[in-house]
Amino acid sequence: MSGILELARPEIRALAPYSHAAWDPALVRLHANENPWRSPADGTRGGLNRYPEPQSSELIARLATLYGVRDGQVLVGRGSDEGIDLLVRAFCVAGRDSILVCPPTFAMYRFAADVQGAAVIEVPLLAGSGFALDAEAVVGRCDGTTKLVFLCSPNNPTGNLLDTEAIREVVEALAGRALVVLDEAYVEFAARPSLVPWLERHPHLVILRTLSKAYGLAGARCGAVLGSPEVIGLLRKVIPPYAVTVQTIESVMDALEPDRLAESQVQVQRLGLERERLRARLALIPLVSKVWPSEANFLLVESSDAGRLLEAGVRGGLLVRDVRRQPGLGRCLRITVGTPEQNDRLLASLEVA
Ligand code: PMP
Repeated sequence: MSGILELARPEIRALAPYSHAAWDPALVRLHANENPWRSPADGTRGGLNRYPEPQSSELIARLATLYGVRDGQVLVGRGSDEGIDLLVRAFCVAGRDSILVCPPTFAMYRFAADVQGAAVIEVPLLAGSGFALDAEAVVGRCDGTTKLVFLCSPNNPTGNLLDTEAIREVVEALAGRALVVLDEAYVEFAARPSLVPWLERHPHLVILRTLSKAYGLAGARCGAVLGSPEVIGLLRKVIPPYAVTVQTIESVMDALEPDRLAESQVQVQRLGLERERLRARLALIPLVSKVWPSEANFLLVESSDAGRLLEAGVRGGLLVRDVRRQPGLGRCLRITVGTPEQNDRLLASLEVA
C-alpha cells in the first residue's frame, strides 16, 4: 500500500461500488431486464440487446498487453477524456482542491476542473525554450490543495515531447503529495517510447493512452487510464458500469488483431513522413513565420496573419484549428496532418492566401 488513496476524496474512498447485474456468460440472462431478442439492425457479435460486460475482461487484457502493464493497472473508458473527468471527480473536493496544468496545453484538464469546481493552477511551458516543462516551478507551485498535476507529452497543441528528466524531477518530487497524470495521447507518433515502464516504481503516476489517434478509432471512443491497482480500483468505483459499449469493445478487439495492428503501425509511419513533408512545405508559405517541430500528428504554425490562413483553408474546403486564444499562441494555428492529397489541397489553398 502506497497511501496514494489518501489524496482521494474521502467520500469516494468510502463509496460502495454500484452493484450491476452479475456477469456470467455461461448462464441465460433473466436478471437484467434486457430484451431476449436482438434488434434486426444489430450487426454485432455479442448482441446489443445485452448490456456489455462492465470493464470487459477481454478488452482490459488486450489493452494491458498492448501497453505492457497488468490487467489490474487498466481502466477503460470513453476516450481518455473520460479518464481525465474521473480523475478530477475522484480526487478533487469541490471548492477546496486544485489541479495544476502547464499551458498552452489540452483544454480538457481545465474543463474537467471547472465542472468539478476545482481550482486550476497554471505553470506555463517555457515558450522561449521550445515549450519546455518548468519542473522547478511546477513542484514549487503545488500546495496542499493540489491533487493532480497534468503533463501532456507530446503536448497538444505545441507538438513537443516534454524532457524526460524534467518529468522525472516532477514525478520524484511529488511522491506522496499529488498524482502526476501524464497524457500520452500522441506518443505513438513520437521518437521516444512511452514512459509506461515508470508505473512500476511510481504508484502516484497515472498515464493516459487512447485508441483515438494512432489506431484511428476516435469515433469508437476508447481510452485507457494506466496506473497503480489502487488508483484504478478507485476509478472503477466511479465510472458508470456500462460506459464502454458492445460496439466499442468489438471494434477495438478487431483493430488490435495482429495484422490490423501492423497496418496501423504502417499508417503511423506514413503520417510521420507526411508530417515532415507538410512541415517543410508550410515553412515556404509567405504568410507562415514559423512551423514548430512536432512529435505528434499535427503541426503548430505561426503566421503574421493567422486569420487570413484560416479563411483560405475554409475557402479550399479545409478546417484547421485556431489556437490564438491559448496563452503564448496569439498568432498560431494547429494543423492536423491529413492524407497526402488533403495536405496538398491545404498547401494549395494557403499558398494563395
Ligand atoms: N489528450 C490529448 C492531449 C488530446 O489531444 C486528446 C484529444 N484531442 C485527448 C486526450 C482525448 O482523446 P480521447 O478522449 O479521444 O481519447
